[in-house]
Amino acid sequence: MNEPKLGTLAVHAGEDETLAVPSVTTPVYQTTTYRFPDAAAAAAYLDRPEGKWLYSRLENPTVVAAERKVAALEGAEAAACFGSGMAAITATLLAVLRAGDALLLSDTVYGETTRLCGSILSRFGVQVVSVPLSRLAEAPAGAPANARALLFETPTNPTLRVVDVPAVAAACRRRGIASLLDATFATPVNLRPVAHGVDLVVHSATKFLNGHCDHLAGAVAGSRALVDAVVAVRRSTGGNLDPAAAYDLLRGMKTLEVRVLRQNETALHVARVLERHPKVARVLYPFLPSHPDHATARRLLRGGGGVLSFSVKGGYEAVARMHDAMRLVARASSLGGVESLASIPAISSHRQATDAELAAQGIDRGLIRISVGLEDPDDIAGDLVQALERA
Ligand code: PLP
Repeated sequence: MNEPKLGTLAVHAGEDETLAVPSVTTPVYQTTTYRFPDAAAAAAYLDRPEGKWLYSRLENPTVVAAERKVAALEGAEAAACFGSGMAAITATLLAVLRAGDALLLSDTVYGETTRLCGSILSRFGVQVVSVPLSRLAEAPAGAPANARALLFETPTNPTLRVVDVPAVAAACRRRGIASLLDATFATPVNLRPVAHGVDLVVHSATKFLNGHCDHLAGAVAGSRALVDAVVAVRRSTGGNLDPAAAYDLLRGMKTLEVRVLRQNETALHVARVLERHPKVARVLYPFLPSHPDHATARRLLRGGGGVLSFSVKGGYEAVARMHDAMRLVARASSLGGVESLASIPAISSHRQATDAELAAQGIDRGLIRISVGLEDPDDIAGDLVQALERA
């Protein structure tokens, strides 16, 4: 048989096939601890912990199944799961950085990631160097000698900028800098970071991987050695995924490809409808020819993703009226679920930014971000069009 493709891996990879009862699905091992038959077995765990069961902060079979599936989807040697995306990012940074190191941090990452690095990591002797998104591929060559890692995102929130991932990964490799990519918006369906040379891929699995807005989760994938270092941090700091959430993550990932391919199509359809609308000033979606990174997106991504943003003419007052008039799309933060969600960055993710900071990131106060769900594409577009009448 040929190598299984992504959709096949999504359904089958990682599931526990060693079950006493030959269940088709991996069950929830709702346990915090595991029995030892005798002292010799207990002592053997302490001598050689890998592959044994001791305590669910360290390992749990349902979580391990989810980790194997994430690794298979990313084409990575190994993966580790966490109770949230931020827990995954924290453990990843703690695993690769030491006091005295510099972290190159893209200036366009999730706000909490910026706060984690700027307010917390920096207290422990890590120098955080902000890198403009447009200079990510050049920055490693000119980085200080203590630069140890570069953390970036693609596509970015909320302007959906697409980074030349292979160029950034290669530049990092030449300088011995670990490339860390938060690929939450991309998903393994649309982007193959490990194949492009990225060292560690991070996800807020709360979003597309789980896909149903019902659990927080995080994941990290990469080489066995790097993932082991991340797991060693998780062991001490906590943050492992709960087994019930791991079951739902496993189930969510089975439909990842189907969901994301549909969300790609729907988002492109909605983006095209909006681009023709007289009350819309601009639409940001990587698979539209008008997007600044359209060529890079077409080269690297299988689809433009399930998130798009657009600016309503008339600024904040107009977009707020439109936002309040939506009937189907929910007014909610987050993204990647089966329900369509909308949020206005100027009053949510970027509410602390000044006008100058918003402008530097290409955001205006009339911008709204839509995460398309699995509703009928015409219903989603129709809801936004009817809401625009109130703008
Ligand atoms: N990374 C990105 C790109 C995100 O959008 C988010 C959350 O919105 C996170 C990380 C944090 O993930 P979590 O909320 O699962 O901790």
